[in-house]
Amino acid sequence: MITVENLHKHFSGFHAVDGASLKIETGSITGLIGPNGAGKTTLFNVVAGVLPPTSGRVVMDGEDITGLPPHELFAKGLLRTFQIAHEFSSMSCRENLMMVPAGQSGEKLWNTWFGRKRIAEEERALRAKADEVLEFLTIEHLADHPAGMISGGQKKLLELGRTMMVDAKIVFLDEVGAGVNRTLLNTIGDAILRLNQDRGYTFCMIEHDMDFIGRLCDPVIVMAEGRVLAEGSIGEIKANNEVIEAYLGT
Ligand code: ADP
Repeated sequence: MITVENLHKHFSGFHAVDGASLKIETGSITGLIGPNGAGKTTLFNVVAGVLPPTSGRVVMDGEDITGLPPHELFAKGLLRTFQIAHEFSSMSCRENLMMVPAGQSGEKLWNTWFGRKRIAEEERALRAKADEVLEFLTIEHLADHPAGMISGGQKKLLELGRTMMVDAKIVFLDEVGAGVNRTLLNTIGDAILRLNQDRGYTFCMIEHDMDFIGRLCDPVIVMAEGRVLAEGSIGEIKANNEVIEAYLGT
């Protein structure tokens, strides 16, 4: 689905991503691991259109998407999760979900002249969809809670939920398991697996928790010093001497 070809991202001469090439297969849950400073987040940001690359190409289903802005990638079904922004923390969890789909009729002024009924219908449909997503994620009891008041792990679930409000094809998850307790981590893992198996989502996820990666990800891609060092199953990666050295060297 995604091919990254010889990607470079330099920050005033510093090579954060230094010729990385990788493939994310349709239907996979691909893990991206590596020591701190390996360039994982920078690569994510370039692929998701948050940062322009210095050079190299990103191709999605045969189409060159290098440097496209996030909203154009969003329209193609490529999403990157972000933490709930400060300005949305006072809105309820349901409202946070309802805000995601773009291009609702209510946003266009001319529609308010002759489309009141349609706006009300769309809002009802959005609300029903948001409630369905909250139920899927087992946090329906938080629907009316302000997003800023829920726990860190529940926020991660809500971030995942935002990708379910639109027809995502591939979702980039940046440390969705970080700082989350085991119970919620299992809930997040279950949601990712169900989205992958039942709804056909492809995932690429940066993670540090090896158990979590082992449960979800195949293949696992290892980055070090801005490049791809190894790729394989979690078992192969754990037995790879170069990988062990890269981790020990930091
Ligand atoms: P990882 O996610 O693997 O820990 P990062 O992509 O966050 O790695 O960072 C790779 C390297 O690039 C780090 O040394 C980091 O300090 C550097 N870096 C990241 N973003 C910037 C930036 N905006 N300006 C300068 N250096 C950066």
